[in-house]
Amino acid sequence: MQFIHRVSNVMGERTDGLHEPVFQGNEKKYLLECIDSGYVSSVGKFVERFESVVRDYVGAEHAIAVVNGTTALHLGLLATGIKPNDEVIVPALSFIATANAVSHAGAIPHFVDVDETTWGMSPVALSAHLARVGQWRNGRLLNRNTRRPITAVVPMHTLGHPVDIVGILEVAKQYKLRVIEDSAESLGSRVGDIHTGLFGDVGVFSFNGNKTITTGGGGALVTNNSNLAAKIRHLSTTARVPDRFEFIHDEIGYNHRMPNLNAALGVAQMEQLPTFLSKQRTLFTRYAEEFSDFSGGKMKKENEEATGNFWLQAFLLDAEHAGIRDELISDCLDAGIAVRPLWKPLNTLAPYLNAPSSPSPITTDLYERVICLPSSTKLIVDVA
Ligand SMILES: *Cc1c(COP(=O)(O)O)cnc(C)c1O
Repeated sequence: MQFIHRVSNVMGERTDGLHEPVFQGNEKKYLLECIDSGYVSSVGKFVERFESVVRDYVGAEHAIAVVNGTTALHLGLLATGIKPNDEVIVPALSFIATANAVSHAGAIPHFVDVDETTWGMSPVALSAHLARVGQWRNGRLLNRNTRRPITAVVPMHTLGHPVDIVGILEVAKQYKLRVIEDSAESLGSRVGDIHTGLFGDVGVFSFNGNKTITTGGGGALVTNNSNLAAKIRHLSTTARVPDRFEFIHDEIGYNHRMPNLNAALGVAQMEQLPTFLSKQRTLFTRYAEEFSDFSGGKMKKENEEATGNFWLQAFLLDAEHAGIRDELISDCLDAGIAVRPLWKPLNTLAPYLNAPSSPSPITTDLYERVICLPSSTKLIVDVA
């Protein structure tokens, strides 16, 4: 089927990783400035600067920078009032951090299937599942099988393509669920004019080395709710109460603030975000052209009525070719081409085998048929 040839035609001579970072802007300059200032930890002007550029870019009223996307999700859950023993609905198809953050909050991830078009949580599956397992008791929604409260939902914008967030918000409203948006992969992705992360109570981004922009490790929460923002900031800085000299902490907080060094890298990366986004889109066009007359499957396209950031390029094998996924991946890896399958469905992994779950046939099907392709913006060479 010449799958490998088509991928390497797009890559040219390059054999980069799945999504390698690019540092072609002011990274070194700002990092040196940061070191020279002496402020390399959780205090310093780059943290504030980074928060303000993220806030302005996303169009949020508040942005709080933290050490990574997982801790951002964790803080988002705590700040919206998720308690130990609550159940939180997450997509069966996601990176494990989505479920782990729920566990870190002492809550239990409860898996729901995804949609075959968006690859994100399906509002239809969500609604049908809650109608089946949900039960109202004193104005609270309980899981009728486990008797635990179901209090929140964490939709995720898969590979940077917006989920049907409007549909999910409707179901969440009906069932009084908090919405924590896992926008870890979707910086630059919008539904209409509204940036992902701004639809729920709080949204979360990741700036890990393989994301659209990186701070080395890092994450951020965005929200338009001032109380929630204050709560998150407080929790992320050991819940310290301002005082001239005493160490006063009014609850158990976390040391989750982003260090100034990481923020310095982030400020430089944010300056290049428009370039990265345009290259990610160009890369999609190249793959789509290369595979246009290919008979075994097709590229994951942009979702209707949404602007995706094309963070990770993905190829969907036709159902009858699902059986050759591993062979194609092995061939590519042998040739030094960094392709990967999608994440194993979370409800099939050891830590979550016994977690509550809806049936998830679409998640299983996508897992068996998708191959993620090399997606670094390095693959799009600058024209001088
Ligand atoms: C990357 C990612 C995270 C976690 O981000 P880290 O910064 O690596 O902790 C969470 N959810 C999803 C869907 C991700 O892709």
